[in-house]
Amino acid sequence: MKHPLDAGLLRAFGGAIYAAGGRVRDEEMAAIHGSGAEHKDVDYVVVGLPAEEVRARLERIGRVDLVGASFAVFKLSADEETVDISLARRERSTGAGHRDFEVESAPDVTLEEDLGRRDFRMNMLARSLESGALVDPYDGLEDIRARRIDILAERSFEEDPLRMLRAAQFAARFEFEPTPRTLAAMRAAAALVARVSPERIAEEFAKLLTRARRPSLGFELLRETGVLRYIWPELVEAYGVDQNEWHAYDVWRHSLATLDAARGDITDRLAALLHDVGKPRTKAGETFHRHELVGEELAREMLVRLRFPGEIVDDVAALVRNHMFQTGPEQTPAAVRRFLRRVGVQRIDRLFALRAADIVGSGLAKRGDHNERFAERVHAMLAEHPPLGVADLAIGGREVIALLVQARRVPAGYRGGPEVGGVLRYLLEQVTEEPDRNTPAVLTALAAAFIDSPASAAQTPTE
Ligand code: ATP
Ligand code: MG
Repeated sequence: MKHPLDAGLLRAFGGAIYAAGGRVRDEEMAAIHGSGAEHKDVDYVVVGLPAEEVRARLERIGRVDLVGASFAVFKLSADEETVDISLARRERSTGAGHRDFEVESAPDVTLEEDLGRRDFRMNMLARSLESGALVDPYDGLEDIRARRIDILAERSFEEDPLRMLRAAQFAARFEFEPTPRTLAAMRAAAALVARVSPERIAEEFAKLLTRARRPSLGFELLRETGVLRYIWPELVEAYGVDQNEWHAYDVWRHSLATLDAARGDITDRLAALLHDVGKPRTKAGETFHRHELVGEELAREMLVRLRFPGEIVDDVAALVRNHMFQTGPEQTPAAVRRFLRRVGVQRIDRLFALRAADIVGSGLAKRGDHNERFAERVHAMLAEHPPLGVADLAIGGREVIALLVQARRVPAGYRGGPEVGGVLRYLLEQVTEEPDRNTPAVLTALAAAFIDSPASAAQTPTE
């Protein structure tokens, strides 16, 4: 596989430049297993040249930026492409401890040294741009062939605990197995994952959740090695919590089966993984009363802790909270409209997809249920654009203010306040019950009557 910048880099560096990282691994994987999508980010390593020389040669090709505070990685932008070029690096011990080391780059650092400090053998591969030859000093190819994830040094995870999350991500994405010593090292280093920043954990979780066909493989690995306990102990509580006749699995396996059955978007997958997270704490015999409410709180805390974006947190929390929705024909149209308001129309299809995944995740044959018919009913209802929010009402704040002034409930010149919201919410309740009421004449009459009523007076703040 050629990258558009390969030719220019080869001219500038000749035999001193190599393609490295995930791209080379994925090319080899595609050749062996016929799998592996084309790799998006492209990394190169330059051997035997000082940093200033590398920079000078790169500047002849395009724009050059330093990556972060590091002095050994350059970003090259040319022809609308951006790639990373690093100088070969090695670790130098600065003390007795596992974390006492510095990364240094120097012209005498070899490619083998540079590859040897990467996370797993399958990633310790490079390809010469000049000859096209694969450099594989640590038998990475053998691991790819055997579908194996293996560390080179026992203390690999102690040096960088983030690698444990990378192991989970690769295990799920490629359906590779960690070797026994990799598992043992992970178990030994599990608690150190607490050192990894929440943002970096979330980043690896996002890759794990969206790039793997079966993300459960990664989460099971993290649970089994004890790593997950230090990130999301709430989720681990589900392990071994038995359910009832509706389920073949315990809560943990059900959550994972639901996860694998969910659509591949980050929000859908997080909602599937966390939808029953409230069950362990609400279990009473065979029931889990209000687990969706406890679960919403837990899911929110868990996602905020990892600094997931607010929109994802809100969507997942709403999906967890509402995942027990009723679908039977006894649901009145008004009840369905209230349900739509609670969930938010923009989340309805996610919620239906979650229900479908939840059923698959039960591990039992589907029983007669009303889900499809309910979804059809909801879509038919939405096609008629029923008023579901204050913005859909046939009258607005201006008209309500005029009515409040007219009724002397507020002084002349009043420009708006909590009273207005109270009236609009009342009107929304009215049209939720009966959408035909959503005309200016009917709503004006309803609002005027409400403003005159004791209920409205009780709502008006007195301060
Ligand atoms: P992806 O397909 O997710 O991009 P990748 O292996 O390319 O997989 P990158 O994060 O792009 O992952 O990393 C590029 C290179 O850097 C890889 O060769 C990898 O081995 C190495 N690397 C990344 N993170 C670490 C780490 N924490 N410790 C050691 N090596 C790492
Ligand atoms: Mg990469």
